[in-house]
Amino acid sequence: MEKNRKIKKAYVRTYGCKQNFADSEKITGLLYSMGFTPVHSPEDADLIIFNTCAVRENAEQRVFGNVGALKKLKKDKPELVIILCGCMTQQEHTAEHFKAKFPFLDAILGTNIIATLPEILQNVGNGLIRSAQKGANIHITEAGGALDEDIKPLREGNFSANVPIMNGCDNFCTYCVVPLVRGREVSRTPENIISEVKDLIAENRRDILLLGQNVNSFGKGTDTDFLGLLREIDSLDGEFLLCYMTSHPKDCKKELLDFIAESRNISRHLHLPVQAGSNRILGLMNRGYTREQYIELANYAKAKIPDISITTDILVGFPGEIYEDFKQTLDLVEQIGFDSAYTFIYSRREGTKAADFADPVPAEEKSAWFQELLDVQGRISERSYERFIGKTLRVLCLGEGRSDPALLTGKSRQGIIVDFAVGANSVRPLGQFVDVKIKKALPWALIGEQTDE
Ligand code: SAH
Ligand code: SF4
Repeated sequence: MEKNRKIKKAYVRTYGCKQNFADSEKITGLLYSMGFTPVHSPEDADLIIFNTCAVRENAEQRVFGNVGALKKLKKDKPELVIILCGCMTQQEHTAEHFKAKFPFLDAILGTNIIATLPEILQNVGNGLIRSAQKGANIHITEAGGALDEDIKPLREGNFSANVPIMNGCDNFCTYCVVPLVRGREVSRTPENIISEVKDLIAENRRDILLLGQNVNSFGKGTDTDFLGLLREIDSLDGEFLLCYMTSHPKDCKKELLDFIAESRNISRHLHLPVQAGSNRILGLMNRGYTREQYIELANYAKAKIPDISITTDILVGFPGEIYEDFKQTLDLVEQIGFDSAYTFIYSRREGTKAADFADPVPAEEKSAWFQELLDVQGRISERSYERFIGKTLRVLCLGEGRSDPALLTGKSRQGIIVDFAVGANSVRPLGQFVDVKIKKALPWALIGEQTDE
């Protein structure tokens, strides 16, 4: 760090999805360029920013609890500046609620924070933003718009990088608040993305994750599409692991899977949220595909890319869902055999279409369905990685092992955690690709031994 740097300390806490984490890395990058030092505890900070998530009610409740806990810090240190931003505060009603309930907050911003943050921070210092007794200033700009290209993110970890390729969402699934709080879909230019990826490879950050709410619709307003983007990135020099999420079943094309099958550097992990297995519910959700189309796509991916790992998101208890619909989700889960699934109980979101749908099934019944799904998926996950035992996988070594400190850990081309042993005298291959022979499968990881020392 340069000499004479102002010793202002900033603590940024992030809730929710990878996109939010990527936003926070930009916020931290901006703060760093303004002279702040990042710290890992709110007690040490002069500035606290909470980047919030609104996708489900329990995420929101956690934020309310954690914000409430800041009251004492502010009391003990009145010059502390506390700012909220992100998807929760982009909603007017939630922002007003924060303001009323937590008058010690200094500013409440939305999702488009980068451009406004420097001015807000200056104004806090001048007393302009927070006039005494009045509570926080709400300063929400319109959701969406292009991602900021000028701010260099301050990234966590040594070898991985999140690269947002688009912002917003145009899909309007009826349960989902994301299009409301992140605005319409806007893609970055392929030139900017490729130049960022080249820099990352040069910095030896070779675990690269391209991010978008629906990566398959990437490219609107540019001269390429997602397949074109992947083709260009795959042909860059060097070995790297290019991951991407989230794929949307309605827009994920077979040609893309054909290309991934023959690519050198593109991940063989397909995160393909199905949400539900009943056509009636998929229709009410406005997902844009049928159960049959989903199954055909997943089977095509497995046939083309035999070592693929498919994971999914599932929503239980959508308004109007009955047990017969839910049984079709269970049946689909059995048919596909996902390596893992993120499962959620439906949470009513103000402003979405489904918020007006009748929702007669009691919470306890939904919880029982949810538990049934966990049991079925748990049984599948328990054994699904066994198919890799005896195989040799290419693994990017990322650090110390989690299951056993004597092992190193890494990520395979399938996006699977692989803990592995290296010879007693060999150099630890941190940040490098190695071949690992798989000896054992756990539900969440593979265990093996490096073979190419
Ligand atoms: N763009 C991604 C998902 C973004 S939100 C996609 O289309 O798949 C991540 C997950 O949260 C969703 O896949 C869904 O399963 C879940 N989710 C979204 N809204 C929800 C709600 N209102 N209640 C419960 N889960 C929800
Ligand atoms: Fe939400 Fe659907 Fe957009 Fe995903 S695709 S962010 S679930 S509206």
